[in-house]
Amino acid sequence: MVLSKTASHSDVSVHSTFASRYVRASLPRFKMAEQSIPKEAAYQIINDELMLDGNPRLNLASFVTTWMEPECDKLIMASINKNYVDMDEYPVTTELQNRCVNMIAHLFNAPLEESEPAVGVGTVGSSEAIMLAGLAFKRKWQNKMKAEGKPIDKPNIVTGANVQVCWEKFARYFEVELKEVKLREDYFVMDPEKAVELVDENTICVAAILGSTLNGEFEDVKRLNDLLLEKNQETGWDTPIHVDAASGGFIAPFLYPDLEWDFRLPLVKSINVSGHKYGLVYAGIGWVIWRSKEDLPEELIFHINYLGADQPTFTLNFSKGSSQVIAQYYQLIRLGYEGYRNVMENCRDNMIVLKEGIEKTGRFNIVSKDDGVPLVAFTLKDHSHFNEFQISDFLKRYGWIVPAYSMPPDAQNVTVLRVVIREDFSRTFAERLAIDIQKVLHELDMLPAKSIESTTVTVTAEKTEDGHVVPKKSAIETQREITTAWRKFVSDRKKMNEKMNGVC
Ligand SMILES: *Cc1c(COP(=O)(O)O)cnc(C)c1O
Repeated sequence: MVLSKTASHSDVSVHSTFASRYVRASLPRFKMAEQSIPKEAAYQIINDELMLDGNPRLNLASFVTTWMEPECDKLIMASINKNYVDMDEYPVTTELQNRCVNMIAHLFNAPLEESEPAVGVGTVGSSEAIMLAGLAFKRKWQNKMKAEGKPIDKPNIVTGANVQVCWEKFARYFEVELKEVKLREDYFVMDPEKAVELVDENTICVAAILGSTLNGEFEDVKRLNDLLLEKNQETGWDTPIHVDAASGGFIAPFLYPDLEWDFRLPLVKSINVSGHKYGLVYAGIGWVIWRSKEDLPEELIFHINYLGADQPTFTLNFSKGSSQVIAQYYQLIRLGYEGYRNVMENCRDNMIVLKEGIEKTGRFNIVSKDDGVPLVAFTLKDHSHFNEFQISDFLKRYGWIVPAYSMPPDAQNVTVLRVVIREDFSRTFAERLAIDIQKVLHELDMLPAKSIESTTVTVTAEKTEDGHVVPKKSAIETQREITTAWRKFVSDRKKMNEKMNGVC
């Protein structure tokens, strides 16, 4: 066989990829190269660089699904080239999304008549879902105020200071003031009494969280509903509630079916949930469900009738993939109520095992709840020798990604470590992580005090000029300084590595 001369140097099917010139030459990082490279080389180079990413299964920072059954992976790959928006070409995919909307609306106890279709839509995630729900509230409020001849330039939304960043985005992008109920050093979710105090005539809705991102705790939506009903009665307003059930929406119906947090409460007008969190689908799907047609202003809906039948759409994006919708439908029919309950029970049991392992060290206070989202959030009892950021850092050496972060105001002096328990976090993992945390504590105990230069904090009693002795700094002040210094250390290092550490 005669090889052509031009092929002999460049063809990776002649040389192995690693013996070819493509892995020896450096690729331009920020400009497109002049020449093409063979597909084998492109694959290998990218695959290898990606090996330096963390392992998603060990990423305990995230609620987002990292494992699905191989049968579902097959369906996802088979639909990877389907644009969801082409509803006339892919009517079955559209039908599957509508079935998902209806199943989830029933799961949330939407008050639907027998054959009445539910009102809702699949989104890219809870963030898009929340933008849509927020816009619906804003428009409804504007319509009402206009009808009453009142100004519409100062809408606000009431939330706890523990809201996920997407609410801050909604507020800024769509020009709504965010009125946040401050937390306390021993209370990390929205206090319903304080929330209702903040409500005024310009409040488009109060947003409660079912499963606070920070410690997994469910906010008391029922109490909020009852207090707000009273206030509405007194004032004549009709301020509604939105429930951000991004993480809790697929937990509460299975583990706590009697907990009233959803459309059973009359003021709850819309709910969002992340399909890609405990809905058990890979990243890229969320849902927003409205209580009824009346809660979604008609003028926000675009009607497409490609299908002959009317297909209402209300999304921020036009094109998107179909795979996640299909994968959500797979999970709903494959697992059913029984399957979801089993998964959630497993998560809760594994959470308890890990929590007990962490408690056994005697070194931490647990700030998550047994009856919230299955996660363990914990904080050091004693900060004199090291802090939570160092524990997080040391755990990386064992392969675990466990984030540390400070709470929002007024609990900003509390720093927590958080481990999210997902479906694929097995009992073996829980036991192993508890052992590794113990090892890390031991290693940190062995380090000379203040070994990290930038976290050094001097805590001494001082004499002032007139001879008074200034008392030692309180534990809280000391911790605040350690946290600030450590944050600076970490952020300098991050700048160096161009890396971001996300909590989502
Ligand atoms: C994760 C989360 C969000 C954002 O959801 P995405 O699906 O990631 O866009 C919003 N609110 C809460 C409470 C969350 O936990």
